[in-house]
Parts: sequence; structure tokens; C-alpha cells
Amino acid sequence: MLKVTDLHVHYGAIHALKGVSFNLQEGEIVTLIGANGAGKSTLLNTISGILPATQGQVTYLDEDITNSPAPKIVRMGIVQVPEGRKIFPAMTVMENLEMGAFTVTDRALINENIALMFKKFPILEKRYKQLGGTLSGGEQQMLAIARGLMANPKLILLDEPSMGLSPIFVEQIFDTIQDINQNGVNVILVEQNAQMALSIAHRAYVLETGKIVLEGEAQEVLQNPSVIEAYLGIAQEEA
Ligand code: ATP
Repeated sequence: MLKVTDLHVHYGAIHALKGVSFNLQEGEIVTLIGANGAGKSTLLNTISGILPATQGQVTYLDEDITNSPAPKIVRMGIVQVPEGRKIFPAMTVMENLEMGAFTVTDRALINENIALMFKKFPILEKRYKQLGGTLSGGEQQMLAIARGLMANPKLILLDEPSMGLSPIFVEQIFDTIQDINQNGVNVILVEQNAQMALSIAHRAYVLETGKIVLEGEAQEVLQNPSVIEAYLGIAQEEA
């Protein structure tokens, strides 16, 4: 469904992605794990057209989308939920959801999707008139995901959805991701919480300083000694 081939991205002189190749098959949750600064957000931002690639190719449903404009990529069905949530704090919950539907022109479909989001996230219905900035961190993350789903994506890119959330919200967010996937949306999940991400993903890639250093079935990666040492040790100690 999505194929990234030999992707290179630079920030001026900084070579942030150094020939990344990976793919996502229909139906999958694929997780990207890696330390701070490994290039995970850069990869998502390049797929979604926010950052330009300096070399390589991104193909989606057999179409070359490398360096296509971000709104076109959203219209094709790829939506990114950014790191740090970035909801519109001075807009209400309802207005945030409407903004997510900017590519949808059918009013009936927008209303249907809002009803669906309220069913999926009852807390958002309770707070629909409240300003986004006044929600708790976990509620803002739910709003960010719901806003992304308002565009009817076929593929959703989630950048650190569990960051800064209390354990109860972390559980809820991971349940939500599985639910979204079971309802037919493919997921690329970038996470620091490698343990949780690997436990719900089908496949995983490990990114280190701009390169993929390991890939495989998520369960295999979860048991890889170098992954346990580098990414799971701290999580286990904290738990
Ligand atoms: P994090 O979990 O901290 O977000 P990450 O794996 O998502 O890490 P990126 O944010 O993609 O990593 O960063 C990859 C590299 O690119 C890092 O070396 C980072 O310092 C650099 N970088 C990221 N954004 C910029 C920018 N706007 N300007 C210059 N360098 C950047």
C-alpha cells in the first residue's frame, strides 16, 4: 500500500534520513521505534508532504507521491496526527473536528463522521462546546486522532500518541489505535513506548541516526536482544 524507497532528507547540512526503505501492506499497523533524533518524525513528515525529500521515492497505492503537496496527500487518504497533538486550542472540540474534515465536501458525511467520533470518544461529545486548549492531555490526544479520522483516511500516521499521558490514557490510546485498524484504517505508529507499540503492531522497523537497522514481525522485534537492551530496558524498569 505504501512503499518508501531509499529516502534521504536534509535540514540544510544535517542529513536526517540516510536511505530509508520500508513498506506497509494493506491491513497493517507498522511501528517505527528509535531514540530521540533518530528521524522518526522526519520520516512521517516526508511521507505526508510537509518536508521535501532530497532523494528517493514514496509510492502510495502505486502512485508516486514523493514531494507532492500535503493537501493532495490528505485527499488521497493519508492523514498525519502530529507529535504534541497540535489541536487548535482556541477552537471548540466541534470546530476542531470540522477542521479535520476540510477535504470533505459532503455535509451529510461530515455529520455522520462527527456522530461516529462521538460514539468512539464519548468524552468529546460531553465537551463539544469546550475550547480545545482546556482539555486534558489525554482528551487532546483523542481529539487529535478524531480530527484526523474526520478526513476518512485509509492510512493514518501517528507521531508519539502516548507521549506525556497518564497510564490510563496510554491504555485507552493503544486500544483506540487497534480499534481504528480493525475498522479498516492502516496505521504507521511512531512511539517511544516501544513495549506497547510492539505489542499492538504487526511489523516493526527500528530507526537509528537516519537508517533502518532492524525490521521484522513485531513479536520477533520485541524479543530481539539489542532491542530489549536499547528500547525496552528503561520501559521495564519504569514499569
Ligand atoms: P524525537 O522523538 O525527538 O522527535 P525523531 O526520531 O522524531 O526524534 P527527528 O525529529 O525526525 O527525530 O530528527 C531527526 C534529526 O533531524 C535530528 O538530528 C534532529 O536534530 C534533526 N532535525 C529535526 N528537525 C530539524 C529542523 N527543523 N532543523 C534542523 N534539524 C532538524
